[in-house]
Amino acid sequence: MEKIEEITKEVCKELIEPIERDIEDKGLYIPETLSKLGELGFFSVSFPREFGGVGLTFEEAVKSSIILSSYTSTLSMIIGAHQLASFSIFLFGSDMLKEKYLLELNKGKLIGAFSLTEPHAGSDPSAIKTTAVLDSDYYILNGTKAFVTNAGLANLYVIFAKTNPESGARGITAFVVEGNTPGLAVGHKEEKMALPYLPNATVTLKDVKVPKENVIGRANLGFIVAMKTLELGRILTAAGSVGLMERALRESIKYAKERTQGGQPIANYQMIQSYLAEMKTLLETSREIVLTASRKKDLNASDLGLYSSIAKYYATKSAVDVTRLATQIFGGYGYVRGYTVERLYREAKMYEIVEGTNEIQKLIIANQILKG
Ligand SMILES: Cc1cc2nc3c(=O)[nH]c(=O)nc-3n(C[C@H](O)[C@H](O)[C@H](O)COP(=O)(O)OP(=O)(O)OC[C@H]3O[C@@H](n4cnc5c(N)ncnc54)[C@H](O)[C@@H]3O)c2cc1C
Repeated sequence: MEKIEEITKEVCKELIEPIERDIEDKGLYIPETLSKLGELGFFSVSFPREFGGVGLTFEEAVKSSIILSSYTSTLSMIIGAHQLASFSIFLFGSDMLKEKYLLELNKGKLIGAFSLTEPHAGSDPSAIKTTAVLDSDYYILNGTKAFVTNAGLANLYVIFAKTNPESGARGITAFVVEGNTPGLAVGHKEEKMALPYLPNATVTLKDVKVPKENVIGRANLGFIVAMKTLELGRILTAAGSVGLMERALRESIKYAKERTQGGQPIANYQMIQSYLAEMKTLLETSREIVLTASRKKDLNASDLGLYSSIAKYYATKSAVDVTRLATQIFGGYGYVRGYTVERLYREAKMYEIVEGTNEIQKLIIANQILKG
């Protein structure tokens, strides 16, 4: 095992394993654990040292993220959403934005959120209605964002708004908005199928005044900022799914060896072995495609977007299959609250939806291969 994986495992065993159920089932210890993970560099594994990062490759960051998410989906999702904000600024932000915000984000002193979706505009972000109107040195933002991960927890929001409403995707601009800016308010909190302590809420913007130097990149570049950021986010989402599969398989192997029926461990039955073999195959093929996609990022490859979508689609779909098989191996107990596999099955479904649904990933893949 490589060093980053060893370190992540050690930290997870020490810091997260003893309180895993408190975090996932009761929402306890979240801010303090995040702040420890921030100090240790888990918010910025692949960011350059000059911006407060650890300075490793994206592939190493992904390997670390797989391990972290096998221990805690909630914290791994919080850090993933945070990193969408950091990546937007890192990829497109001015030196001033990087200096002012990225250093703090990378150390976990600021928590970020990435706010693209609106109540009526998810898969089609070109239809967003939030507006940003220039008024001398400020933009004035009005609108409602939906499903914002880290809403309320975050003190920095990357918000996408229309600066040229007639121009669809070409009329969107990305802004850095500080969480305490007057007019920004966290609204309705979603009660989800899983991850009850992952904050997801609407964010309303009422005459929110944002300095024009807080534009990420330049005006009307926001759609590109979002898509390029999501290429990286999708790989991290896929990594999260690999972590879930790793955990589901670990739990299933242990249970299959311990649980006896018909006078022998259920692991002796070939149908259970067939499930375990299928799970291992889906886990390892997903891991490989996720690592391939992450190397595309490290190599700055032109087909990064294609591989990011393939990894997101394949790994998240596989995670639903793997966690479903895990609950089957657990029999009735797989359906009972308190058993980890029951929780993993519900969590896995989320990964098929976020950061662009799997239908959208298939559209991206098809578009890429048809245009060649
Ligand atoms: C837990 C969670 C966390 C989230 N966090 C964030 C966040 O931090 N920031 C953020 O901006 N958003 C976030 N989202 C929102 C998420 O990105 C959207 O839910 C997702 O993009 C889908 O949008 P939608 O819900 O509006 O579904 P819709 O776009 O309405 O889609 C409904 C269905 O139609 C399908 N569909 C839509 N268009 C097409 C098409 N052209 N071809 C084929 N099928 C299509 C979809 O695939 C889906 O099956 C989060 C969502 C969840 C559940």
